[in-house]
Amino acid sequence: MRFKDLSQLKRPEPLTITLGSLPQHILMTEYAKDKAYKISELVGVIFEKSFEWYGFTLANNDHPELIVDIGLPQNDLNLQDYTTLGSNRIAEFQESLSEDVMINGWIHSHGALNYKHFSHTDEENHRTVLDFVAARTRKPLAKKEIAIQDLVLLQKDHFEQRDMEKGSVCLITDGPITEARIMETVYGSFCYSIVIGDEGWHHQEIHCRERGVLSGHTTVMSQAAKIEFVDTGKSLSQIDIIALSNEVKQKIKPHTDPPPELIERM
Ligand SMILES: [Zn+2]
Repeated sequence: MRFKDLSQLKRPEPLTITLGSLPQHILMTEYAKDKAYKISELVGVIFEKSFEWYGFTLANNDHPELIVDIGLPQNDLNLQDYTTLGSNRIAEFQESLSEDVMINGWIHSHGALNYKHFSHTDEENHRTVLDFVAARTRKPLAKKEIAIQDLVLLQKDHFEQRDMEKGSVCLITDGPITEARIMETVYGSFCYSIVIGDEGWHHQEIHCRERGVLSGHTTVMSQAAKIEFVDTGKSLSQIDIIALSNEVKQKIKPHTDPPPELIERM
């Protein structure tokens, strides 16, 4: 048999049925945004100097895509530790939250620095946060066909051991069948990363991971994303600001004289 051109030799595309999607942009309430900049402002007022801090972006379990609040964990004294986030620390913070609240990302400030993008250390932190929040932000994205070259179909109680020697995968069914397609669920997870500066700028990314449950095929993607601010009517009250001010005093302990090599790592 001769083919006129090679395109005839192409295997058909595996069947994919889309079930859902990961966020393409970040949703954040005005309240959460105001709170983030308020923390930076309070750090400046309390410590009389701009200082970097980090926190977690929080969502309600029933809407993981929307940042509704900023959680401020105990920031370390040491600048090096504090720019490197450990999963223990994230777990500890998650445990302190009420059960209907989840972490969906992290936020940090570069203070007065004119460094408006993520550093290499920040990128490592994105991965740590994604690993931690993946289980909670996980959702089915698609059913995708797994192309199996020589699938062997066997019928229960009607085959011998030597039938098992054939094929790369066998499917044992309770009735006679002649054709089967194997479809796996592809799950997707995401986390947000936001960096802000005292001057009011912000830069942010969405980090995504997709994984086929049977094939184990995994892809990890990061992309710069826009933020859509949502006005829910909730705003920072004077009482909120006093409470936040106490929290800043208690949780942020500036390392006022970091060695220059640590500044470069931010
Ligand atoms: Zn940074």
